[in-house]
Amino acid sequence: MRVLYPGSFDPLTLGHLDLIERANSLFGEVVVAVLKNPDKTPSFPLEQRISQITESTQHLTGIEIIEFEGLTVRCAAESRVDLILRGLRAMSDFEYELQIAHTNRSLAADFETIFLATQAHHSFLSSSVVKEVARYGGNISHMVPSVVAKDLIRLFNHE
Ligand code: ADP
Repeated sequence: MRVLYPGSFDPLTLGHLDLIERANSLFGEVVVAVLKNPDKTPSFPLEQRISQITESTQHLTGIEIIEFEGLTVRCAAESRVDLILRGLRAMSDFEYELQIAHTNRSLAADFETIFLATQAHHSFLSSSVVKEVARYGGNISHMVPSVVAKDLIRLFNHE
């Protein structure tokens, strides 16, 4: 099976990576689709987010990393995937994710969205929390892959 894992990944956290690894062993091929949102200025440019994911997934086979813009279902069709994958950390994720899943299904009934629950020890991780900790010089080594930790330290000038 081939699954699409779309997201902003600004930046990739160990929670995202855990989901990629588990989807990889459950389904086989994982297409990580990195969102290029013209309305938002990300902390890390698209190319850097892609290289963070490339470097952090080197130990895996069957991972494809692409950029995407616009509708996720269109990206899913173009990438010829069987499923769309999203992660769930808490009930607060669930309401939003359910709405998106219903929207996507109404646009393209041929794509199912499946959810993987985060591991408990990653459930507090989000890209924005990690950036907040890094901004004030906190330890992020247990939150993000090493390449991302380096980039965050550089971003906030804590070198
Ligand atoms: P988006 O802007 O699309 O929400 P994110 O990069 O924040 O993009 O998240 C992409 C996906 O990864 C979402 O399904 C989100 O719920 C999931 N996710 C985010 N953080 C974690 C985590 N710590 N553990 C597991 N899944 C996560």
